[in-house]
Amino acid sequence: MSSTQGSARQVREAVDAAMVVDRAGWSGAARSAEVVELLAAQERLSALVMAVVGEWDRDAAWALDGSVSPVAWLAHRTPVTRQDAASLVRSARHVARHEATAKALDAGDVTAAHVQVAARATKHRDDLYTEHETVLLDAARSLDPSAFRSAMAHWRRCADAVDDHDKAVKEITGSYLDIVATFEGVGHLDGRLDPVSTATLTRVVDRMEPPDGFDGITAPRTRAQRRADALVRLASGERPPQINLDITVDIDTLAGRPSLDLTSGCCEIAGSGPLSPAVAAMLACDAAIGRVLMRGDSEVLDVGRQTRMLNRAQRRALGIRDGGCVEPGCTAPAEWCDAHHITHWTAHGPTDLSNLELRCRRHHILQHQRDLHAALRARRQE
Ligand SMILES: [Zn+2]
Ligand SMILES: [Zn+2]
Repeated sequence: MSSTQGSARQVREAVDAAMVVDRAGWSGAARSAEVVELLAAQERLSALVMAVVGEWDRDAAWALDGSVSPVAWLAHRTPVTRQDAASLVRSARHVARHEATAKALDAGDVTAAHVQVAARATKHRDDLYTEHETVLLDAARSLDPSAFRSAMAHWRRCADAVDDHDKAVKEITGSYLDIVATFEGVGHLDGRLDPVSTATLTRVVDRMEPPDGFDGITAPRTRAQRRADALVRLASGERPPQINLDITVDIDTLAGRPSLDLTSGCCEIAGSGPLSPAVAAMLACDAAIGRVLMRGDSEVLDVGRQTRMLNRAQRRALGIRDGGCVEPGCTAPAEWCDAHHITHWTAHGPTDLSNLELRCRRHHILQHQRDLHAALRARRQE
């Protein structure tokens, strides 16, 4: 059997014929048209290669001559690097496993580059990709591959955040501030703050010490210098300015569905950056911060600023009833605990004692992760 039989031989012959066309007298417009056509043809060819490699791999045809893997076979027999071979096999398998993706690629709705991005992001997350395939393909259709890469990175982060309890706990706990005085009394600071504290502190100090105007003589302070000055002003008893910190929580993410707008943070501190869904759900559950409930990037469903805070009497009653964290085996006292809405307010759970329980930070995040998992499971059974 020759390697140039069947459809591949026709493609090659067509390319060879195009190679020997005399292009000397072509106009600029003709050259532009040729470039567009050639790249479109290359795209179709890439899609064909993915489909054929997928079938070849499914049948383990690479094993017929004793090769140990499809990647090794390709790297040995064809003019591709090992890395490109690995990427091709990964993409081909992705297409073979996901029918809607294969159809979109066939139809030219998405490009081979999109599939490559999706295949890479989907590693170890195949079930979730299958579940979210429609939304992800919609994103692929409307985004160029590089924007789609950001969207997939975002999707992956959300997907992993639901699963990764330790990471979610680390996100919100483990704050510290080291202040080391050297022997001349000069202090060195080193620390770490959770995302909400970071957003609060940077906003406060940047409001207190805005950039200096340049008077032509003294160099303006750097941002780091201004922040140090502001911190000292705070420590000296100056009242901090009022700042508004909003947390946007995407209702679809909370319900275990992919956010409608994959290009934006599904859950984030407005203006600061993404939060894992469990942490966002926890913060939105009981915290003295603003909450904006969104669907996608544009539809605001609810703006609840501290409306779901417990009053003092409720908090005391909850402390007496629960005594501390309700997680079995946990001994965290009531003062360390958050009031958790058993049915989240996004699902119309009321802020009254029958719907509240005390949970320490760790077990509060854990409970929201359980809720996210339950929502995912419920979706899978629909
Ligand atoms: Zn909660
Ligand atoms: Zn606990």
